Amino acid sequence: MSGECILCGKCLEVCPLLRATGREELGPRAKADLCRLLSEDTDMLSETDVARLAGLCLGCGRCREVCSQGVDVPALVAGLRGAHPDFKTWLWKTWLKHAKKLWSPGSAAAKRIPEQFHSEKIGPMLKMLAGLKGGAGLEPCLEVTQYPDTYRGQNMLLFAGCTANFVQTRWLMTALKLLDGMGVEVLPGDFKCCGSGLKAAGFADDASAMSAHNVQVWRDAGRPPVVTFCASCRAGLQAYDGCFWSAEEQEVWEKTLVPLSSVLRDVSFVLSTNVSKALGYHQPCHVRGDDSDRTLLNHALKGRITGATGRECCGFGGVMRLAAPGLADPVNRQCWDTLAGADVVVTGCSACVAQLAATAPDSVTVGHWLELIR
Ligand code: SF4
Ligand code: SF4
Repeated sequence: MSGECILCGKCLEVCPLLRATGREELGPRAKADLCRLLSEDTDMLSETDVARLAGLCLGCGRCREVCSQGVDVPALVAGLRGAHPDFKTWLWKTWLKHAKKLWSPGSAAAKRIPEQFHSEKIGPMLKMLAGLKGGAGLEPCLEVTQYPDTYRGQNMLLFAGCTANFVQTRWLMTALKLLDGMGVEVLPGDFKCCGSGLKAAGFADDASAMSAHNVQVWRDAGRPPVVTFCASCRAGLQAYDGCFWSAEEQEVWEKTLVPLSSVLRDVSFVLSTNVSKALGYHQPCHVRGDDSDRTLLNHALKGRITGATGRECCGFGGVMRLAAPGLADPVNRQCWDTLAGADVVVTGCSACVAQLAATAPDSVTVGHWLELIR
């Protein structure tokens, strides 16, 4: 795939890592070129250098969206990571594969470690872990006054994702309550993790096993719509490939993935007086096409969003958090500069919530938009 890069530089305009650091060697074009060179001369760099370079990508996918040649830089980087695994990728894999056992106690333990023990090396990771569980949550300011009949009686599956299943169960409860109000029949479905984090870290086989399992759950349920409320999970599910019986089935799968916010679009809400006067919205990198979360919030909050990010990445970065923690900081700072003045920030991606909650100024509370709904 890297051979197809024509070095046009279009992707340079959208890479948040390049924009925040000004270092072109960290940008997508350099990565595509590096992969091409490595495919021609495997002895060009040492194993350690390749593993280090493979860590330098946030996996946001913005470069892939604009590349006219179809070059998939995050996939190239994942290939490098898979071919040159190191201790950090192994650690990340363990963390992702054992979410049920590790995330809740890991997050609680990270919260208890005092700031003075946050060294430069592990401090950012501890903050991210602590943010995973969030704090007390946002103060709800929206109440449903009327549900439409649009989906009444329809069967759907809910793909909640690891964060909502194992750490932020209040999101799951609110989503179920809303779907119940809509009259939707939520079918039982034993989904596993979407696998996108493992795929980005280079563990293609583990990710494929998860995608095959999840597609089978959907088939067994009669191929109903699959509702999601995490942009990263949805992007991961949309990228499934190689686990379908036919191209037609894959097409049906892609069409059945619906954001919860689009299901709720005609719900009527009443706004309570405790609504924040400075409410910021962060648009996750993994939102594809129209941002239905933003549309729903604009409608429900009656235009109260005072500031929003567009092309700024939160800097979560998956395995890059471990591989090069300091490099994600300028990316994260640009995000907060855009949100300056907000006292509450909402978003629709579990990774963005964790990252923003961990890096928020003391005066700012961060949460999933579901937390705004009573
Ligand atoms: S990756 Fe795509 S957009 Fe970027 S320089 Fe290469 S061809 Fe151009
Ligand atoms: S995936 Fe994101 S961070 Fe990585 S090279 Fe592409 S635009 Fe840059």
